[in-house]
Amino acid sequence: MPIYEKLMGNPFVDVGVCGICEWLGRNVQPEQVTVTDLEQVVDEIAPMMQTAVGWKNLHGIFPNSVLTNAAYRKQDQVELLKKECQGYLDTILELAEVGDCMGCGRRPANTWLSRTNIPLTGSGKLRNFYPTFAEGAGYCSACAFAIQLSPLTFMATGGKFLTLHSNSWKALRSWARVCIDDVRQQQLQQEIIGCHNPGYANPRNGLFYMAREMMVRFQEVRTDENVTMQVYCFTNYNQGPELEIFYMPAPVFKFLRIVYQGQYKTEWQKIVRSGYVVNWAKVKSEDDYKNRTNRVYENLLRDRSILSSFLYRGRRKTRGNWDLLSLYLKEVRTMEQTQLDKIKQVGDLIADSIKESGRDRRLNQLERARSYGECRNILRYVIRDRIQQGAPEPLFSIDDYMEYLFPPSASFDATPWRETRDLLLFRIYETLHDWLQEQGFVDFDEDNTSDGDAPSETQSTMED
Ligand SMILES: [Zn+2]
Repeated sequence: MPIYEKLMGNPFVDVGVCGICEWLGRNVQPEQVTVTDLEQVVDEIAPMMQTAVGWKNLHGIFPNSVLTNAAYRKQDQVELLKKECQGYLDTILELAEVGDCMGCGRRPANTWLSRTNIPLTGSGKLRNFYPTFAEGAGYCSACAFAIQLSPLTFMATGGKFLTLHSNSWKALRSWARVCIDDVRQQQLQQEIIGCHNPGYANPRNGLFYMAREMMVRFQEVRTDENVTMQVYCFTNYNQGPELEIFYMPAPVFKFLRIVYQGQYKTEWQKIVRSGYVVNWAKVKSEDDYKNRTNRVYENLLRDRSILSSFLYRGRRKTRGNWDLLSLYLKEVRTMEQTQLDKIKQVGDLIADSIKESGRDRRLNQLERARSYGECRNILRYVIRDRIQQGAPEPLFSIDDYMEYLFPPSASFDATPWRETRDLLLFRIYETLHDWLQEQGFVDFDEDNTSDGDAPSETQSTMED
């Protein structure tokens, strides 16, 4: 009978098991891990996982433990930790079908632990995040052991910790590898600082950093897997434990997965950068903005559209191309290919008509439309222009209009006309940007402007 299995359900246990497997070797799976392996892991980790050596952030994970309580400082803390772990290893029970352990639900709880050993659990007068006001929780020895090693896969973030949970073992494993690689590096260089800490104090940005690192460095997560990410941002300090949960839906994960491993990476970075409200002229390094609120990230996590971030209205330019935008709309916004094709076709015809007119009047009008009624009126003008220009085909059929451009919604006011208008603008900018610039319809010197949004543009984007 194995000691562990993949994804037993408790986030701290699962990342602990993941870290143990990754420490033992790239291909080691939970079902293969033996007591001897676990003893080896403790022997290797214990000398490093001490505040005296440099792993200082343990106070926020296991307060009052043999590693952090001042009362133990005069003793050999490495030996104390080893002894504690050996105690768990000596009492591991057979994995069964059911049990009352809080970690696996597969074994009887044979140890009662407080927040000293299990983050966010109750203890004495501090109830913390625990139901029924119990002073601790029952775990089996195997789960208790795994949790002691979970800091191997935590990411430190502004005094708190981010820990990942996912429905995909491979995703968890990819993240564990990022953290373990860092810890091994610290060990090699004899410069122990503790949990992986890339300097993100903003947990939402930290979550996207996690996703990016997992995707860029490792190919094992397939794009057709429905991977979700839950990230727990917590502290377990004596003074006040905290917990906040962030959730990345499967479609967003899949979209990012394709973006980071494909040809869209550079363009996507521009879109992400546009999400920071920051004066780019004063930015010297990533540290100057990486912890600021990012509108693109916030909107992705809140299931709001990021379409406007693909548009650089001030320059009448796009960020990314139609293919990248289509990918986002299909994967995240579940838009149909036929609708995208139709909008693209209409955008192209409007661009042709604007170019033939030699003026940017219709573009101005479309950009400034403030209501569905105004937007429809402008399209009517374009239809009239095209008749005058002798265009052989209509701009669109009534069926296209009803089905793809402005599909019916609960009420006239709720018609998502802005989305269609912005898609048309995107396609027009993409097709006509060079021409608009040649004609002097984009009035600034492109080379002297930075990549970010000008404050005025940010304002207008938010008003839309
Ligand atoms: Zn258990």
